[in-house]
Formats: sequence, structure tokens, C-alpha cells
Amino acid sequence: MATTAGRLPATMRAIRFDRAAGTLRLDEVPTPAADVDEVVVKVAACGICKSDVRRIDGEIEPRLPVYTPGHEAAGVVAAVGARVQRWAPGDRVVMAAGRQCGECAACRVGAGSDGCTDLRMMAIHHDGAWAEYAVTSETSLVPVPDSIPLEQATVLSGAVSTPYGAIDTARLRPAEAVGVWGLGGLGTHLVQLARVCGASPIIALDTRPAARELALGRGADIALDPANTRLESYIRGVTKGRGLDVAFDFVGRARSFAQARAVLGDRGRLVVVGTSLDVDEAGPEFALTRNNQTVVAHTGYRVKHLEDVVELVDRGRLDVSASISAILPLARVAEGLQRMREYDGNLLRLLLRP
Ligand SMILES: [Zn+2]
Ligand SMILES: [Zn+2]
Repeated sequence: MATTAGRLPATMRAIRFDRAAGTLRLDEVPTPAADVDEVVVKVAACGICKSDVRRIDGEIEPRLPVYTPGHEAAGVVAAVGARVQRWAPGDRVVMAAGRQCGECAACRVGAGSDGCTDLRMMAIHHDGAWAEYAVTSETSLVPVPDSIPLEQATVLSGAVSTPYGAIDTARLRPAEAVGVWGLGGLGTHLVQLARVCGASPIIALDTRPAARELALGRGADIALDPANTRLESYIRGVTKGRGLDVAFDFVGRARSFAQARAVLGDRGRLVVVGTSLDVDEAGPEFALTRNNQTVVAHTGYRVKHLEDVVELVDRGRLDVSASISAILPLARVAEGLQRMREYDGNLLRLLLRP
């Protein structure tokens, strides 16, 4: 291991999840070292994502028998590998969840994490960042300007960059009518981003009143309960008969999908957004449907998307300062998970601080 400026402690604290035993505990483990093209980041904070909760609860089968969860992290560069040119200890960075594999054809010609065809995901293929330190490839980091607190930067990784990527997938243009099904952290940030992109009108849908209220505060023009039996005619009316140009489905159930399909206009695009990390489960496209409509699956985000949302926050176009509900120490991870399970629509991101 060729590491420079790496006076790291031999061990660190990390949350370890044991799949077979079903246990989650704060442990002392070896501090990761940087390989020649890797960077070790001292984690400032890391989000608790719904997909973390689902893996710990057994709803999604984890790949690794024992691992450190957490994939929405920001921090400060602590050590860099011998061949790393662009980062130095002390740099403030946000980590993209996916890192280059280093072996595919794209990686061999230096295409970086955005070109890699076999991305390795934090907390799926290797340890995540509910820990004091985390390691990744040099191509999976984005600089965080001093104007953005590192805690806010964690929200950009995943909770903001995934809906931003979905907007890119949808090719959303100004004045297009948008519907958003499911107002958790991702859906609510999509409402906010759709507003930045000039979408009009923006219709937010969720069964939870608190989530609808929050979406109205983040830029939705109208917030509806999807249980409303006159939903379809209402949306047709609001869009002057043309239906939605783009529907984003963050719920991913048969009902939300059918509702979104029913109110999609001519040339409409329905984007079904999977959990931010299930890249293997989501195929690129479902099908081409009637009236030139497109139904497409979207998962995750690229490093470029993360760079874009950092730019939007830095320039004051996007404000995510109210998106962090609480910051808990690692030792209180169980409490954080429980609060995510009891989510009532009024909690965007909980962070862990090592
Ligand atoms: Zn996530
Ligand atoms: Zn690769």
C-alpha cells in the first residue's frame, strides 16, 4: 500500500452489520489504507438512506456477509495513493456511491467512474461510510466548496443527485407538466429540482399529509392524495387536458405506476426511480408504449450529476439547508434506523457523525 501523508490511526470505529446474525454494532476495525489510485476520506457525516434500512431489515439481500453500511458521505481527504494527482490531504469532498471497477474496457482507457461499465457500490460491493474513514477511487470524489457545509454535501450524494439524474433521464424541459409520486427524501428533492428546471405545473402526490405540506414548501404547485378517486380528471384539468409531460414514480408499486400511466400525455415520459443503489435489478428500459410515450427505469446518479448539484447549491440556486432533520453519533444508529422506519413524511435526511 503506497500511501502519502497517511498518518492514520491503525484502527477506527465503524458500524458493522452481520447478515447471518442480524446484528448491527459499533466495532473497532482496521483503518482502510489507500491503494495507488485510491483516496481515504475522514468521514464528516453520512446519511441513513431507506435502502440501508431495507438491507438491515432483510427486505433486500446484502451481498457481503459482514460490512459497514452507508453510502451518502462527505468528509476531508486524509490520505492519497501514490499515483493520485488531483487530491491532497485536507481537501473537502463528497463521495459518489459508485466507484470504478478498474478492470473493464472503459476503466483501462481511463474513463473514470462515469465511464465504468461495472461500477462497484459503497455498502454493497465494499464497506460504506458509517465509519470514521472510508476509501474510494480518486474518480469518485467531487470537491465541496467552502460555501457548503459537509453535512449538507452528504444530502447531495444520493438524496439530491439521484432525482437530479432522473430529471436528466426524463429530458425535462421548462414549462413541462410534472407529477411526482412518493414524497420521501428523493421525491421531495425532485420537486425542488423540477422547480429549478422550470417545470410547470408541478404536482406532488403522497398519502401522508405532512409529506404533501413539505412538498408545497419546496415548490410544488399542487399536492394531492393519490387515494383521491378523481385524481385522473383533476390532473387532466390542471394540465388543460394535455396530461403530464413527465411522471416520476418513486413508489414503484403497481398502483402508482398505473396512476402515472393513466395521466401521461402525448410524448409523455414515465420515469420509475428505483432505490439509489439497486443497479443490478433495474434494466435500462421497460417498454415503449402508446402515443409515443416512454417508460424508463432510472437508478442512481453519475459523478457529473453530483458535480452539477454541488454547483447549484454553491450558486444559491438550490437550498438543501433544511433537509437534515437530525445528526446522531454512530453509537445511536439503532435510533436513527427506527426513526427512518417510522417516517411520517416529515423527515428528509438523518445523518450519522463518526
Ligand atoms: Zn441511498
Ligand atoms: Zn470499470
